[in-house]
Parts: sequence; structure tokens; C-alpha cells
Amino acid sequence: MVSYLIRNAQILDGSVPQDIHVADGVIKAIGAGLDVETDIDIDAHGLVVLPGLVDLHTHLREPGREDAETVLTGTQAAAKGGFTAVHAMANTFPVADTAGVVEQVWRLGQASGYCDVQPVGAVTVGLEGKQLAELGAMHDSAASVRVFSDDGKCVDDAVIMRRALEYVKAFDGVVAQHAQEPRLTEGAQMNEGQVSGELGLGGWPAVAEEAIIARDVLLAAHVGSRLHVCHVSTAGSVEIIRWAKAKGWDVTAEVTPHHLLLTDELVRSYDPVYKVNPPLRTEADVLALRKALADGTIDAVATDHAPHPAEDKDCEWAVAAMGMVGLETALSVVQQTMVDTGLLKWEGVADRMSHRPARIGRLSGHGRPVSVGEPANLVLFDPAYRGTVNPDDFATRSRNSPYRGLDLPGRVHATFLRGVATVLAGELVEGGGLA
Ligand SMILES: [Zn+2]
Repeated sequence: MVSYLIRNAQILDGSVPQDIHVADGVIKAIGAGLDVETDIDIDAHGLVVLPGLVDLHTHLREPGREDAETVLTGTQAAAKGGFTAVHAMANTFPVADTAGVVEQVWRLGQASGYCDVQPVGAVTVGLEGKQLAELGAMHDSAASVRVFSDDGKCVDDAVIMRRALEYVKAFDGVVAQHAQEPRLTEGAQMNEGQVSGELGLGGWPAVAEEAIIARDVLLAAHVGSRLHVCHVSTAGSVEIIRWAKAKGWDVTAEVTPHHLLLTDELVRSYDPVYKVNPPLRTEADVLALRKALADGTIDAVATDHAPHPAEDKDCEWAVAAMGMVGLETALSVVQQTMVDTGLLKWEGVADRMSHRPARIGRLSGHGRPVSVGEPANLVLFDPAYRGTVNPDDFATRSRNSPYRGLDLPGRVHATFLRGVATVLAGELVEGGGLA
């Protein structure tokens, strides 16, 4: 196995840069001026070292939509973004609602070698919201599923949601809800507000998200189970989650990078690259989300990486698919919105993008501290780098990035998966972690 000496990396905010010796898949030693023989020497002067990032919300599209993404291209994109584990959402074709499909996705992840893939199981058969899927069989499978979600669709039937919450308690699972009241969002095309009024586009009101979150935190408390709220997008949702947490209920939440940076003003361009679900909201929502991530009310950043081929995006706004790619820009957006604004230190970024998401997904081996003896899942990030986003350079198979042409700070220099570099000098390593 290849060994590495990472020289002069910044491990904690304000600490003296240290050397990190990586061998046999683990962190062997940390210290100043380490004197060890290794195969590869990396000058990490000026680089921040973080635990490998963990994404709770990734659409890898395989099986079924390999024209948009495959497990291989999606995990390559993840590695380039600094991720060492991603949760693959269940809305594939076929839907990941059986032990067979989640095992297939899990095995494809193992074979990729670039990033661990933890399949998310569907809550209901076919994501149809009518009948609970085989949650226990998916948990007992080789994929050991613990996170269940009908993401893309809301589990809107209160009885089904209650049963799912009750069921997952048996194995410490969690239901991750895409909170969208379906009747309130029929024909919705963008955030309901001043801009939708001026453009005459169908509105997706904040209350459609907030009403479901309010119901679900009450249900989770009632049955004593664990709820995770996907892609929180409104200031009102933050208030409800803050209230639920103050009650001591086991509720966690995530926010996407795009909801931390972009607003519904962008929809004035009618460029479908800005069409996403939940929609881009207002400046006041963006600021409330940043504050909630900073104070821990929102636990995690999750990308909701949603690749779509050009034909589904290069079309009229009304018929375009919803979603944006995000794995390769997530850390840069978080630097711009949370670190450069003084809201989070790098330790806080490690907490919201690695420690907490790993804990929510119950992933052992990820989200660990950068300490001797720990698995060497690491990312070296250069916060001083300045560049213009060009999606044509991405590893993801799709190009639907809302950041094209935008100057974003920072760049992933290297990513290590259990002690093997998947990315070096900003480029994918051939064979990834299997090399
Ligand atoms: Zn969703």
C-alpha cells in the first residue's frame, strides 16, 4: 500500500502546521518535522486538512439514468469535491425499495474505489407513498441501510410517515423527509413571492415545506423516533426545527450549498439551471439558513447533487427538470458563504460536512477526528485558491451547475479514502482507492 507524508498542513484553526504520516489506511503519526520514509511526499503548506466529507444527499442516477450519472462518475465527482462517503438517494429506475437494488448500488460503490456509497432506501414501494417498502430487509442486506427517504417526493400520508418512523426505531434508522405538501405545490415552478408574481410563474410557498416539517417533528416526538429534514430552504422551517430541538426531540436537518448562496432573483433570467426543488428562496431565507447552520440548528450541509443531461435542462423553464449538480463546488460555496463571512471556522466546517452527517447516517469510519490511529479519510483544501467555475472540467457526467462562470474561492488539492489518494494536485488518481 502506498504511504504518504503530508507536510505542513493546518489541522486546527490557528494551530501550528503539522506533518501527517499516512500508511496502511490509517493516520500513523502527526507532528512537526516528522522524519519517516514514504512513497509520496506532499507539500501542504497553506492547505487546510479536514476529515473526508460526508454527503447525506446525492443522486447518483444508477441504475436507470446512466445518461445523467453513473456510480463511477458520481463518486469521481465526489472525490474531487473532497467527499469520502455519499448517501445515494433511492429515486433510481428501478427505485431502491428492495434489498436487491440497494445491494446493487452498494456493490457498484465498492467497485468504483473513489468514494464510499451508502445507499438510501425508499420509504414506500415505488416512492408512491402508499405502502411501506421492505425497510427491514434493506437494513439486513449487505448495504446495511439506515437512512430511508422518498426524496423527490414527500411522504405526505401522516399514517405512512408514522409507521415508517416507528419501524426504523428497531435498528436505529432515520427517515429523511423531502418536506413538500403536494396539494400546496401543484404546478409549482419557483418560490412563491414577489418574483413569481412578477414573472407569472406558479408558486411553491414556504408554508408547503413548513407545514410538513411541523407535522413530522410532532410525529417523531410522538413515537420517539429519529427524523432528518432534507434540504431546508426557508426561515420559517428553521424556526420550527429550532423549537423541536429545544424540546429535546431527535430531529436533524440539512441545507444545500445552493440555498446558502442563491436567491429566486436568478429566476428572472428564465435559465433552467436555476430550477430546483425546493426552489431558490429569498435573501432573508438565505441569511436565516446561514445563521442556523452556524449555530447548529441545521446540522449538516448536503449537496442534493442532481445531475441531468443537457436535453432535460436546455429547454423552456416550464418543462425543464429540477435540480443542480453540486459535489464539486460544495466546499467552495461553504467557504464563500460561511468561512469567509466569519460564520464558521474550519473546525465548524468539519463538524457540519463530516462529523455530523456521518453521525446522522451512523457511518462508522467516517466523520472521525484527524488523529493518530484513525482511518485516513482526509481532504486537503486550498482556501487561497481563486478560480472561475467551469463545469466542462467536472468529473460528473452532467453540466447543470448554477455556478458556471462564477468566481468561487478554494479548491480541493487532495482526497484520501482509507489512506489511498483518490485526488492529488486537484486531479483524479487513476483507479482511485483501488489502485
Ligand atoms: Zn428532495
